[in-house]
Amino acid sequence: MTVVEPTVADTTTGPVHTRALVIGTGFSGLGMGIELQRRGVDFLILEKADDVGGTWRDNSYPGCACDIPAHLYSFSFEPKPDWTYMWSLQPEILDYLRGVTEKYGLRRYIHFGARVERAHWDDAEYRWHVFTEDGREYVAQFLISGAGALHIPSIPDFEGLADFEGEAFHSAQWDHGVDLTGKKVAVIGTGASAIQLVPEIVDKVGELQLYQRTPAWVLPRSNNPIPGWMRDAFGSVPGTRAALRTGIYWFQEALGFAMTKRPELLVLGEKAGKWNIRHQVRDRELRRRLTPSYQVGCKRVLFSNNYFRAIAKPHSELVTDRISRITPRGIVTADGKERDVDVIVFATGFHVTDSYTYVGIKGPGGEDLVDRWNREGVQAHRGIAVADMPNLFFLLGPNTGLGHNSVVFMIESQIRYVGQAIGAVDKAGAQALAPTRSAQDSFNAELQDDLQGAVWSTGGCSSWYLDEHGKNRTLWSGMTWQYWLSTRSLKRSEYRFSGVASARPSQRAAAR
Ligand code: NAP
Repeated sequence: MTVVEPTVADTTTGPVHTRALVIGTGFSGLGMGIELQRRGVDFLILEKADDVGGTWRDNSYPGCACDIPAHLYSFSFEPKPDWTYMWSLQPEILDYLRGVTEKYGLRRYIHFGARVERAHWDDAEYRWHVFTEDGREYVAQFLISGAGALHIPSIPDFEGLADFEGEAFHSAQWDHGVDLTGKKVAVIGTGASAIQLVPEIVDKVGELQLYQRTPAWVLPRSNNPIPGWMRDAFGSVPGTRAALRTGIYWFQEALGFAMTKRPELLVLGEKAGKWNIRHQVRDRELRRRLTPSYQVGCKRVLFSNNYFRAIAKPHSELVTDRISRITPRGIVTADGKERDVDVIVFATGFHVTDSYTYVGIKGPGGEDLVDRWNREGVQAHRGIAVADMPNLFFLLGPNTGLGHNSVVFMIESQIRYVGQAIGAVDKAGAQALAPTRSAQDSFNAELQDDLQGAVWSTGGCSSWYLDEHGKNRTLWSGMTWQYWLSTRSLKRSEYRFSGVASARPSQRAAAR
């Protein structure tokens, strides 16, 4: 493997130049760094926080875990035979990412505390100029965002929130300094984060109020530690770990098949979800209020063996009346009732469909990507590159999230593809490439067509998978192996190259 020395960053004397600039140090950013290192491309990674880990660093709420089995939710090239749990807890995933960072010596390529604010493409230089919040400037030929879409906490703008006198924080910004013991705690939201944290805090708090807007389908699942003998076998018996990974992969794909092609099969999930409620909740009225009226899979399917049990406890209350305002001491619902609250936990999710508006990107001729996406909808070619935006790549970009399988699989397909794109630019003796409009349009037309029958659109719910026009701009439309096939090798015919050595003078003249 070629080891590239990171650009020496003297940020006091002007812009820092590098060939490829990566944003973020989650699975995407770290994976991309490893690919660039392997290809011998000079690169730097900008990270807003002071540690690596992305979502697995930010989300440290009690009970935080991954609902995709760890043996699949990890890099294929960096297996870990001794995962403690089948569905890993957050600290172990964060440790894994820190371990990968150390093993590949990535820390020296990372600039911490560097929150990217804006970037613009210089037509004459064929370079991106990228600016961080503290005013530092980076100049790079390739700009690769590994920021993902689940990193900007969304806190509803409730009337009176600013005057609340207790503690209030978002699940992704858990305040570990706040002791919940004996307190009146309100949890707002019943998504993936809430269903994990509620059972963890319920026995500690004095009173739990769970504010539910829409009930979630929660299927049964127990997550016991993997026995030592099994972990030993994964490490020492050839083929066992790989066989497990393959088995998990195809099980998850079967779920994806039902979600995208045969939603009627999801009725099995409904049966399991209803059984889970019946099994844990005696009160018929409470059962009714916890039972969703939309199809399983329409929103993210959740798994827990103790969420409903936690809500059924005598000191828990499920509140289904809408929140109308917050007072200095509590929460008022639409029925006019005020409940006293000491601590509010916002498990209200993230800015997803508008996450792209948080970094200003201007392409050739000053074209604003946010304006374009606001106008045309968020879309990219193969979910990675954007027409007429040279050398710009998104990892887990538009329509490459998943409702059923490991996003790390998608990320690996994408980092390989971006590596190929960089290789293609070099091979063509060019400075830049961008997908053609027609390639991007036909990719997205097919994708949107495939999505029409998927449960996310037909299942009768609203979710952050859909934009304000009801179009799915977040999830991949089919099986993940189809995405792997679609990105396995970059088709040069789908791209326009610019800055080709022989053509450059005239192109520059045109650019002027
Ligand atoms: P989420 O799934 O978006 O859930 C947000 C919850 O807050 C929903 O129940 C939503 O209700 C509610 N909400 C939002 N605004 C509200 C308002 N104004 N008033 C009342 N309720 C409101 O967010 P999340 O639970 O943080 O999960 C986000 C994503 O992160 C997941 O889908 C998943 O992709 C990922 N995640 C994964 C795991 C895992 O692997 N286990 C764990 C955590 C997160 P509505 O349903 O009515 O909108």
